Amino acid sequence: MTVLTEVLEANQAYAAAFGEKGSLALPPARQFAILTCMDARLDPAQYAGLKEGDAHVIRNAGGRASDDAIRSLVISYKLLGTKEWFVIHHTDCGMEFFTNSVIGSLLANSLETAVLRSDGFTDIGEGPGSEEGKYIHWLTIENQTQSVVEDVQRIRRHPLVPSNIPIYGYLYDVRSGRLIEVPEATTAGVAR
Ligand SMILES: [Zn+2]
Repeated sequence: MTVLTEVLEANQAYAAAFGEKGSLALPPARQFAILTCMDARLDPAQYAGLKEGDAHVIRNAGGRASDDAIRSLVISYKLLGTKEWFVIHHTDCGMEFFTNSVIGSLLANSLETAVLRSDGFTDIGEGPGSEEGKYIHWLTIENQTQSVVEDVQRIRRHPLVPSNIPIYGYLYDVRSGRLIEVPEATTAGVAR
């Protein structure tokens, strides 16, 4: 069972109606960037009203301001002209349901997919696993609001981020589709 055929069919239909999109410019037309979670329920194009060519969307597990996310944001402004940034985490994020030590143990046990039970992730796979997971900082989330504040602060304080880029902090509510401001984050991200 694979989704390959479905994806390629969908792409054929998309490309068939591609039209003017083939002449879009490389820099994002609306000059902003969003850092958000990879969660499948989040569609930044829908929740933020984007079309092709509008904005940069940087996604990872949790929407965290990792070194690699900051690398992308720096390129986004320095080479491609974005002027405003959003950090958008969300309710019910999978990154709240484990810790560095939990995922390290799960991976040490096996490389198969764990199951999420009411008391957290449980490994049901057969080994061998790998100890390598114990050496990665997984950037898990203890508190949704606090993680937005921390990430906006981390970006704000980064030496390669200019002070005139405002950074807005929001939580996306997966039950309502609404963006909810985290005022402490937006304050931390204010442009100077
Ligand atoms: Zn998430």
